[in-house]
Amino acid sequence: MRWLLPLAAFALALTSGPSGAVDGMACSAPSLAQGITSRRSVTSHEPVLLACTGRSAQRIAIRRSVIGGTPYLLLVEPARLATSLEPEACWTCSAMAEQRMSQTPFGAAVARAAAAKGFPSRAPSFNAGLTRGQAGGVFLTADLCPSRRPLDRAILTDIAGRWPGAALALAVSGAWLRRHAVDLEWLKERVRRGDLTITWVNHSDRHRYVPGVAQDRNFMLLPGTVPEAEILGAEWTMIEHGIVPSVFFRFPGLASSPDLVSAVSRLHLVVLGADAWLALGGRPRHGSVVLVHVNGNEESGLRALERLVHRPDFGPLQDLHDLP
Ligand SMILES: [Zn+2]
Repeated sequence: MRWLLPLAAFALALTSGPSGAVDGMACSAPSLAQGITSRRSVTSHEPVLLACTGRSAQRIAIRRSVIGGTPYLLLVEPARLATSLEPEACWTCSAMAEQRMSQTPFGAAVARAAAAKGFPSRAPSFNAGLTRGQAGGVFLTADLCPSRRPLDRAILTDIAGRWPGAALALAVSGAWLRRHAVDLEWLKERVRRGDLTITWVNHSDRHRYVPGVAQDRNFMLLPGTVPEAEILGAEWTMIEHGIVPSVFFRFPGLASSPDLVSAVSRLHLVVLGADAWLALGGRPRHGSVVLVHVNGNEESGLRALERLVHRPDFGPLQDLHDLP
């Protein structure tokens, strides 16, 4: 909470009140805060770092997007790290220094995740980022890498059956979203009905993978990767498809390098690793980030998760926002 005071003083120093209009747009466009929306056209999406006040709240804006012709901000609630897309016209914002950002709980989470190096011995770097939380239970994360196969709906239905409204983090690639409109609608319907609470994790846009290339030179380590394009492109695609990106980013294959980790944290995202990759024999402990794939490509991980879901000592499922 220390950061709130300087931010409040900063806001008072601004000469204008809530701006009320940006490019002629009144503060009337809807807030896209529910994590899911309908499909919308996005014509720009760029990084910013702004301290914002409005709607009786303080937020940090990390992106500005033009959605359906209206400027929106991707706002982060700085203590909880929850995100929402809000019309820019409803907020009064000013440039935020990196140093001030670093003093917020959000900034601390970005830095802590970037400092978690994973296993640098598996060069250049494997499993960087946050892998365990303080809370009991587990953080269930499921990856949606590009796939021709359909979403593994049965396991998600099982999970919602055992824990109605279960917190689930889906690490979604832009390439998966572009190919799975029907599955995405099925997921949104689970959220609307309250069966699942989904945190949408950025899993890169193209999620390139070349068969036969060693893991430590594959994925985003392939030549020609532009990290910013992968990160922002995935967000752009998420917003176009009606889902609100969270502050979390997971590297494809968990493969990264110090430079890639820096690129993620420069864009103010929290790198997410895994403590228990079920298909690789990982055993969840209390506080583990559990990793499984629900894109039709990881039968062994699914079988392991099915067994866990029916064990009385597994869970509860924690909200990813409680990880940092
Ligand atoms: Zn993946």
